[in-house]
Amino acid sequence: MGPVKEGFLKKSFYSLDFKQLEKELSPTAASILFNRHYKKRIQDQNYEDVSKESLAYIQENFCFNLPIIDTVIESEDRTVKFLIKLSDGSKIESVLIPFQNKYSLCLSSQVGCAMNCSFCFTGTQGLKRNLKTEEIVGQLLCAHAWLSENRPGDERILNLVFMGQGEPLHNFDAVKSACDIFLSKHGTSIGQQKITISTSGYLPGLKRWSEEIPGVNLALSLHSPFSQKRDELIPINKKYPLEEVLEVIDEIPLSRKQFVTYEYLLIKDFNDSEEDARKTGELLKGKTAYINLIPFNPFPGSEYERPELKITERFKEVLDEYKIPTLIRVVKGDDVLAACGQLNSEPS
Ligand code: SAH
Ligand code: SF4
Repeated sequence: MGPVKEGFLKKSFYSLDFKQLEKELSPTAASILFNRHYKKRIQDQNYEDVSKESLAYIQENFCFNLPIIDTVIESEDRTVKFLIKLSDGSKIESVLIPFQNKYSLCLSSQVGCAMNCSFCFTGTQGLKRNLKTEEIVGQLLCAHAWLSENRPGDERILNLVFMGQGEPLHNFDAVKSACDIFLSKHGTSIGQQKITISTSGYLPGLKRWSEEIPGVNLALSLHSPFSQKRDELIPINKKYPLEEVLEVIDEIPLSRKQFVTYEYLLIKDFNDSEEDARKTGELLKGKTAYINLIPFNPFPGSEYERPELKITERFKEVLDEYKIPTLIRVVKGDDVLAACGQLNSEPS
């Protein structure tokens, strides 16, 4: 055995997908490690049945550090917001969203975000850095550990949604490897259709979708069918216009029962009129689409307002005429600033 490597020279175990681990160790050792850390969710390294050579290799080359939960805020509706501290001191947020007795976990992909959308709290932070694979995977492991300690018997996380901080397709490689780890049958074994990646329309990432992350669900933040309004809301629409984005999305193969989600953020007196709804209906009719209407969630300093419920309901009725399934998303966790677009981990 050579000299023991310093922590920073070692690879994070949580950055490796099954195939990579198999190559470094052996298929048997890789199965044992995936089973222990991801399926049984045991964090120590007291492996049985791993050969001496593999054990020595693991000790010398891998580290098992995970991000830590810094603060937990529980909402009255059982939503849980985690402020998670990374090894360099940066903080990100993950949110557990309850539905029935299960949860969706909303994952962050970056510290901050470069896209600067006008309605988004995270956008006001700017991009600090990309998350590493192990920091994305670590969010799931942290949430699981917290649930088993604090809500035992109630620890089923069924869906993973990349709707936390950051533009996931702007950190494509790490998001892709994290998905490979989540999907592995040897570990968490989350089904492809239980993972959703939401994007503001970052075209270079969308072009890699079909080849590299096929089968995962796609959600596009649409927010307006009109280019001028969309430019104002999502500045990268000027660089990657909606028409080009939709052309690429239309080419992504979908499996049976799968559809593309279009998220539509409703802002009072800005994009909530009947004309906006009709144009959206025209744009999406005939597509394998599902629309999520998200009433704007205010945050400190935000200028926009949330429309009244009856305006939101009218918007939905218009879309119903175009036979596009539409859901008004119930706001969860907004009493603890854990709802969409309310995530911001800068010190206040
Ligand atoms: N960057 C990706 C994913 C993270 S944002 C994206 O933009 O799609 C997740 C969702 O929250 C997006 O649909 C985004 O438009 C929405 N969102 C952002 N700010 C919001 C706010 N203040 N109120 C409601 N939804 C918001
Ligand atoms: Fe980034 Fe999405 Fe927020 Fe836009 S809405 S700033 S892409 S996190």
